[in-house]
Amino acid sequence: MSDSLTDLAEADSEPDAVVALDETFPDIRAGVRSLCERFPGGYWRALDRERAYPREFVAALTEAGYLAALIPEAYGGSGLPLAAATAILEEIHRSGGNGGACHAQMYTMGTVLRHGSDTQKARYLPEIARGSLRLQAFAVTEPGSGSDTTQLQTSARRQGDHYLVNGQKIWISRAEHSDLMLLLARTTALDQLRSRREGLSVFLIDMRQAVGRGLTINPIRTMLNHATTALFFDDLKIPADSLVGIEGRGFNYILDGMNAERILIAAECIGDARFFIERASAYAKERIVFGRPIGQNQGIQFPIARAYAQMRAADLMVRAAASLFDAGKPCAPEANMAKLLAADASWAAADCCLQTHGGFGFAEDYDIERKFRETRLYQVAPVSTNMILAYLGQNLLGMPRSY
Ligand SMILES: Cc1cc2nc3c(=O)[nH]c(=O)nc-3n(C[C@H](O)[C@H](O)[C@H](O)COP(=O)(O)OP(=O)(O)OC[C@H]3O[C@@H](n4cnc5c(N)ncnc54)[C@H](O)[C@@H]3O)c2cc1C
Repeated sequence: MSDSLTDLAEADSEPDAVVALDETFPDIRAGVRSLCERFPGGYWRALDRERAYPREFVAALTEAGYLAALIPEAYGGSGLPLAAATAILEEIHRSGGNGGACHAQMYTMGTVLRHGSDTQKARYLPEIARGSLRLQAFAVTEPGSGSDTTQLQTSARRQGDHYLVNGQKIWISRAEHSDLMLLLARTTALDQLRSRREGLSVFLIDMRQAVGRGLTINPIRTMLNHATTALFFDDLKIPADSLVGIEGRGFNYILDGMNAERILIAAECIGDARFFIERASAYAKERIVFGRPIGQNQGIQFPIARAYAQMRAADLMVRAAASLFDAGKPCAPEANMAKLLAADASWAAADCCLQTHGGFGFAEDYDIERKFRETRLYQVAPVSTNMILAYLGQNLLGMPRSY
């Protein structure tokens, strides 16, 4: 006999509701899960200790075609919708892995696809789809301008059939593991512009030609294993046909790509949240202290239940944003809210998972402290939480601007 109406209602639901989510793209998810089983916690822990790049994992994803999911079939990709790519990244993160080593290979090509010339598309996209060319690096952030992208200083000056690039970038991830890099640089000085959104241009740079000939890459060691770097440009000469689209329109091209990036990163956060909730609820059921499972105590059970509700709500926003994107409709508010809510959900789940594990949460062997460090990044990159709140407050709700 059930004790209450609540219990009666619960009788209808699956006991393992974390697993029983209404999952989209079940075949893709099953494929990614089985691939990830070949790369268990021990694999990621060893790399984390050395801050080493997960070459074998990236090679396996490339070979299975997952990183070419968004490239149209005409260029050799799978032509899948963004929603399918969210399922891929979510499953990688849910398994305990991390897509940060290669997620940019999925979406950075979008700028070339949308704004590149036919020649650039024919030359690069099929090779990117095959994985024989890696377009993993995306260079926007600078030490001086930070979140204020329109103030960036790295310059590309046209001289005949080439541009000369000078300046610095920071936090440019995977630059050492990429053949091509998308660079946002200033082609018109700030004081000659009517709008600060103008005067920036996008270039597709061949790193194999550039490193040592005007481009220096310095790795930065961070609290997580993310292969991020500082870049120094000193009279780097690049062919004029490296320009993507029209000179001066680069800021808008980069903004165009940000919705896809935010939705995909939000999916990684959902995967992280699911990892933490699954680990926390399992441990709460099995760990006996004071003669009972710790999960019987509401101080342990309720934070996990709350994190689960947060994750499910954020997941709905990720799905809403992806479906608008795939329908070709405007989705900036939803993409930003998906990133905000999913990053908050993963951080809440990380915190309660660590707390649930007590001292064991701090032990490397449990993978929780590693994932805890990894998921903290999403409050800052690729866009910080405050910038999303400012966008919602100022652009959607019309409140006074702080910048
Ligand atoms: C591991 C890692 C990988 C990264 N990878 C890349 C990459 O591949 N390519 C790339 O281009 N960039 C990359 N980034 C950079 C990342 O996008 C930036 O760190 C992020 O956008 C924040 O910029 P910032 O660090 O300059 O912070 P700042 O702009 O200096 O801001 C510092 C803090 O102040 C807050 N703040 C600033 N202005 C306001 C305001 N008006 N109102 C309220 N709060 C404000 C910010 O939200 C932030 O919390 C990476 C960063 C990290 C840490």
